[in-house]
Amino acid sequence: MKATYLQVKKITDENNAILVAVSKTNPVSRIHEMYELGQRDFGENRVQELVEKAGELPADIRWHQIGHLQSNKVKYIAPFIHLIHAVDSLNILKEINKQAIKVDRIIPCLLQIHIAQEESKFGFSEAELLELLNSDTYKNLKNIQIWGLMGMATFTDDQVQVRNEFRNLRTLFERTKRAYFLEDQVFNTLSMGMSGDFELALEEGSTMVRVGSLLFGARQ
Ligand SMILES: *Cc1c(COP(=O)(O)O)cnc(C)c1O
Repeated sequence: MKATYLQVKKITDENNAILVAVSKTNPVSRIHEMYELGQRDFGENRVQELVEKAGELPADIRWHQIGHLQSNKVKYIAPFIHLIHAVDSLNILKEINKQAIKVDRIIPCLLQIHIAQEESKFGFSEAELLELLNSDTYKNLKNIQIWGLMGMATFTDDQVQVRNEFRNLRTLFERTKRAYFLEDQVFNTLSMGMSGDFELALEEGSTMVRVGSLLFGARQ
């Protein structure tokens, strides 16, 4: 684990990108090993698992909620979550804002954009993104802060397709920043790239990669 971790960390550092180690299904002992190597950003996709692990691990870990989030689960992570990656509806954003008010926080979020060909993946289309950012309801949510966009490429060996999907997301990110967040320094995160495609994602301008199986080994 150590050699691979240091290698991946070196690549992300060289690209000024943040490495989120996706620890889902792995026990806290393995997370602690990586923590000892200096890793502080960890990602989970299930709320219950994230909350349990956070309770057993050092408090200076930055926890990332990377998977689809259900409204009724937001309250469990609201007090401490560092960044919510997969915001895919106005409703979930409203719930995050509501829970953030209760714990007197401003919760950082990324808007998930649907870039893959697969039907099943969550996320906004470009038109839906614009509709959200233009809506008064969104503008009145004072306890959330949009740090950027997140996306997942199609699960395919076709590198050209994956690169094109990342490139489209990067372009949308730049356009969104210019049109809606020009004065807003915090809109600077583009979360794209996983074990199989993180180097490609970095070439296409990713600032944050979510790497799991490459670091921890294949999941059961
Ligand atoms: C599991 C997961 C990852 C990491 O996937 P690997 O292929 O194991 O690197 C990244 N992002 C999301 C949203 C995930 O659910």
